[in-house]
Amino acid sequence: MRRALVRKLREKGISNESVLDAIGKIPRHWFFDDIFVDHAYQDKAFPIAEGQTISQPYTVAFQTDLLEVKSGSKILEIGTGSGYQACVLVEIGAELVTIEYKKNLSLVAQKMLKYMGYTPKFVIGDGSLGCEKFAPYDGIIVTAGAPTVPQALIDQLKVGGHLVIPVGDMKLQKMLRLTKQADQSITKEEYSNFSFVPLLGDDGWKK
Ligand code: SAM
Repeated sequence: MRRALVRKLREKGISNESVLDAIGKIPRHWFFDDIFVDHAYQDKAFPIAEGQTISQPYTVAFQTDLLEVKSGSKILEIGTGSGYQACVLVEIGAELVTIEYKKNLSLVAQKMLKYMGYTPKFVIGDGSLGCEKFAPYDGIIVTAGAPTVPQALIDQLKVGGHLVIPVGDMKLQKMLRLTKQADQSITKEEYSNFSFVPLLGDDGWKK
């Protein structure tokens, strides 16, 4: 079923072999209750606890590809959620800090990833403010839809680093890749529309 999912992602245009290898290895069904296990390798988002979702595999692959992670890259993920995206990032060599707003979700993800052998740094807090403690980052990935680009995330990016973030309204967001240049200016590339749960917190939708 994982091989079929990888084939589907290739058909949809994902060609980054290290991302596809990671998705081909990670048991996504471990993030599902037994009764929903048939959904695990379909290319769709699925509800987890607290009204949140495990992202669609295509979205995970698309965002991870845009980040251009190299072995040892220090990456900040905002929105740990289930922890699946975190597994993909660690599997392809990221030194990962992952931050989650909802304590219970983080605790469940921490337990699962430990069991799976993935050991990112977990932080519970408001990722719309980034995570100053471990900054600066080679890349930042936001897995919730933001109303605007939080300034703290730009500030915490290294020169040459990418910030991959969906920005828009509560329903639909455009995927953006911002890159910090040597003179500290920011270039912006725009991709297609996605639909994420809202980014909460001070520089999100303030819930
Ligand atoms: N990356 C996740 C995965 O692989 O399962 C998908 C995450 S889900 C689409 C978005 C997550 O972002 C939710 O778990 C939500 O609680 C979290 N979130 C929303 N606002 C946040 C914030 N300001 N800081 C950290 N996490 C936040």
